Amino acid sequence: MHPAAANPIHRLLDEVYAEVQDLDDGEVATYIPELAKADPSICGLAVATLDGDVYTAGDLVPFTIQSVSKPFIYALALADSGPEAVLAKVGAEPTGDPFNTISLDDLTSRAHNPMVNAGAIVTTTMVAGATREEQFERLLSGLSAFAGRPLTVDESVFESESATGHRNRAIAYLMRSAGLLDEDVEQQIANYFRQCSVVVTARDLAVMTATLANAGVNPLTGVEVIPRDVVASVLTVMATCGMYDYSGEWLYRVGLPAKSGVSGAVGAVLPGQLGLAAHSPRLDPQGNSVRGVAACERISERLGLHLLLPGERVRSSLRRTYRADTVRSRRLRSQAQRGVLDAHGAEIVAYELGGDEGFAAVEPLVRIVLEDDKARWVVIDMRRVTRIDRAALALLDGLISQLTIDGGVVGIVEPRSQGARVAVRELAPRCPRFSDADGALEWAETQLLHEHGLDDALPEELVPLAEQDLLRGLPEEIVTAIETRIVTKVFHAGTVVFEEGDESDGLYFVGAGQVAADVRLGGRGGRRRLSTIASGSSFGELALVDGRPRSTRIVAIEPTICFVLSPEAFSELWDASPEACASLAMAIARSLSERLRYSTADVASLEQV
Ligand code: GLU
Repeated sequence: MHPAAANPIHRLLDEVYAEVQDLDDGEVATYIPELAKADPSICGLAVATLDGDVYTAGDLVPFTIQSVSKPFIYALALADSGPEAVLAKVGAEPTGDPFNTISLDDLTSRAHNPMVNAGAIVTTTMVAGATREEQFERLLSGLSAFAGRPLTVDESVFESESATGHRNRAIAYLMRSAGLLDEDVEQQIANYFRQCSVVVTARDLAVMTATLANAGVNPLTGVEVIPRDVVASVLTVMATCGMYDYSGEWLYRVGLPAKSGVSGAVGAVLPGQLGLAAHSPRLDPQGNSVRGVAACERISERLGLHLLLPGERVRSSLRRTYRADTVRSRRLRSQAQRGVLDAHGAEIVAYELGGDEGFAAVEPLVRIVLEDDKARWVVIDMRRVTRIDRAALALLDGLISQLTIDGGVVGIVEPRSQGARVAVRELAPRCPRFSDADGALEWAETQLLHEHGLDDALPEELVPLAEQDLLRGLPEEIVTAIETRIVTKVFHAGTVVFEEGDESDGLYFVGAGQVAADVRLGGRGGRRRLSTIASGSSFGELALVDGRPRSTRIVAIEPTICFVLSPEAFSELWDASPEACASLAMAIARSLSERLRYSTADVASLEQV
């Protein structure tokens, strides 16, 4: 175990903490007498990750949250009252005026935005609660949920703020005159003062901003504090209005949505990655923490966190394209069926996607698929898709509709990843779904074969030995020599023909019905189907070649009739008719080598990635 300080994030925070110690310009806020008592030398830094790890440096002392409460309360108001109701009273326009300006947006008669006092006082009244007391409960429990622990109010700061907050009262009465607040202005403004007096540490603030970074879910507690769909609105007003009259330059230099407050706190959000917090009471002329801003600028600069830095170009997510003339499902097919698949398999095309799907990742696929006029069955294999956004869903939806209009048939292989699978379920609900590409290919092949009149044989039609794939074309005497040595076995649907590890009891020809071969998966358990084997095909050839225990399990999936040539019968045949044996051995070798060739083609097509 390395010491905590060995972690590069700790080291970075310690370095930045040491560097900003030298900055001692700026003044502690004094307009609220209690705040004037803050120790100006204090400086604390914290970074919280979305796994719930919190890295800190410096002094993690408690302080009142002040205006840093505003984005969190705005989030609660959006969650409780809905964006329409909130937007009707509070806009999203930066003011260019001080945070405590006594003004309304003249054009719209709304408060300019929720990050200035006018807007914040209004959003405080828009959280759930039948009374002002209940609303305060909601404000406090909401902030606590963001922090992941119960928070309290510093009553002396509240008293001090309430006793001197005449300007805020003036703002509140202006809001009242515009119909944005109710009659009980004093209770409403008291809730606002109380909300500003909630006590946090830099650590709490990092967890709170990490909750916004984590789409509204607290990374420590796992609690969904606000719905995901209000997060973008909160981050937008933080990005444009969160740092008083320094907001534009802050975004320019640091590039993260953030909010600061008069107690010297700054909280910033890197969506999907981290929450950042700094606390140091000396304020610059714009009202932002001198050391807090300097620390955030350095951290953003050194880690390249600016959100608007040029991103990596997003590449196509198409990993592999193949057609059923070269790559087939694992289902064994008769010779006639294979002939049709050789000739027409190119009409079945599978596109394998992988990774995160967005506009730029999916657009090339759309173009390629629509340019392909040979494809009639299209398999969209999304098994390896990890995420899928709205743009990608819209493009895929449009693509599938167009293919359907053009007479094509689309099968979807669902993503393994749960989130992506749920998103994909909304897509083209009528398209057949598969859990893997093999199932989808088998489905498409069966449809293609049906069009060519080559449906799989029905169980009652017995495929005689002479017409079995393995024996087709062998001289009649040889087939007869084999025929006299086989036994017929009948299996009900669902019965196990043999298990993995069973002693080999012979070569099986499927006369009617169908069986499936599967293997047990190591580690995770469960089974994986390798192939389905229909009438006319055979299985268990290896029994005659190496005589070792079975490597797969075989289960009858329909009522099935098999002709079985046991190893004893085979050696008897060896004595009686060496030519019959040699022909059979050659046929087995051909069948095995054919399977090997398909596996090779399958592997070769992986090279297209
Ligand atoms: N309670 C303070 C006020 O409204 C908050 C100010 C701030 O942090 O911006 O005056």
